[in-house]
Amino acid sequence: METSPENYSCAVIGGGVAGLSLAIQLADAGIKTIVFEKNTYPFHKVCGEYISMESWNFLIELGLPLAEMNLPMIHEVGISSEKGFMLHAPLVSGGFGISRFTLDKELCVLARQKGVTILENCKVEDVKQQSDRITLIKTAQGTYAAQIVCGSYGKYTPSFARNTQELKKNINYIGVKYHIKINFPDNKIELHNFEGGYCGISKVEAGVYCLCYLATSDQLKLAGNNIKKLEEKVLHKNPFLKKIFTEAEFLFEEPIVISNVTFHKKSTYENGIFLLGDAAGSITPLCGNGMSMGLRASNILAQLLVSFFKEDVSKEALIHAYALAWNDQFKLRIQAGYYLQSLFGKKNTTHLVLKALNKMPGVTQKIIGLTHGKSF
Ligand SMILES: Cc1cc2nc3c(=O)[nH]c(=O)nc-3n(C[C@H](O)[C@H](O)[C@H](O)COP(=O)(O)OP(=O)(O)OC[C@H]3O[C@@H](n4cnc5c(N)ncnc54)[C@H](O)[C@@H]3O)c2cc1C
Repeated sequence: METSPENYSCAVIGGGVAGLSLAIQLADAGIKTIVFEKNTYPFHKVCGEYISMESWNFLIELGLPLAEMNLPMIHEVGISSEKGFMLHAPLVSGGFGISRFTLDKELCVLARQKGVTILENCKVEDVKQQSDRITLIKTAQGTYAAQIVCGSYGKYTPSFARNTQELKKNINYIGVKYHIKINFPDNKIELHNFEGGYCGISKVEAGVYCLCYLATSDQLKLAGNNIKKLEEKVLHKNPFLKKIFTEAEFLFEEPIVISNVTFHKKSTYENGIFLLGDAAGSITPLCGNGMSMGLRASNILAQLLVSFFKEDVSKEALIHAYALAWNDQFKLRIQAGYYLQSLFGKKNTTHLVLKALNKMPGVTQKIIGLTHGKSF
């Protein structure tokens, strides 16, 4: 005899920063929530692991004891050109470093403590709306039912959520991450440009530094699809990067690598699924703070979902209100990101821009301000 699927008020697909923080807020409001995560915590992710300060209070309110975690606080930035010039600037609002290995795991522990059901090693394979109140979620561990489904599955849109009209005209990047030990300031983030990409370095917890870069897939192809060759042929042309790569002690046997990375706005609601975090649109790391954007989107969506479950608003109104609030919060940031992106990763342009900004600290601060939001 077929049993009916377990029923939840809200199902969240993907347990990264956006999905887990949404689930925690829903649990705090007494909403029965399930998270499906295809991996098993803790695990490493390609990410620069610098979180802008705007999210500090929010994460503490969720229940993460950040102040007791002895995390590096980052208040300076250095941006270099391949030609060997480095612009130094204060990061007025600043940020802090924490590895995704620790952050995602701690958010998962917190969510479980608050009563969220989290299924690990549980990939969502299909989502089908059965009626206005029931959506079926087919996963590697069986089928579940939920009234509301949220997609926080990150930058790769799964096939069940893919819109056939999605255009693939953006530049395609690869992302590479290492954890290293090196003699480097605790309170500084550096971003080093090279042809077609850039590499960031900043401290996370336990005396470890995150070294993470984006390069174009074309550059990787030119290097015979060999990461080491790419680093030697392309990244090492920037003298600051050559020094870091030569002096660092690399802690992973192999780097963590992802491919097919593109940056663009997607949608806030698609195929019956509310989208947040990178699933709704991602921004290049040089120009914005993707994790803070995901956390902030979770906060906006959680508040609207609480009203929905109290039956204060209809589903149509919820879809509309979320799209409006998302655009209001992120549209300018994403547009500024696209513009800034065009100035970086280019040998001569980047060099000239950095030299010019060096003489205009006020403009530099304005640009940095566009990439960091206000506390929420
Ligand atoms: C090279 C690089 C450097 C970056 N550096 C920074 C930085 O320094 N600071 C910053 O703020 N941002 C940075 N970002 C951006 C940041 O990593 C993302 O914006 C952030 O991780 C988005 O969080 P998320 O929760 O939306 O997605 P993710 O963290 O990607 O989480 C999505 C989760 O969904 C799971 N999943 C996917 N599909 C399924 C499925 N079908 N079923 C179940 N689970 C699924 C995945 O396993 C994953 O755990 C960087 C990005 C790149 C590429």
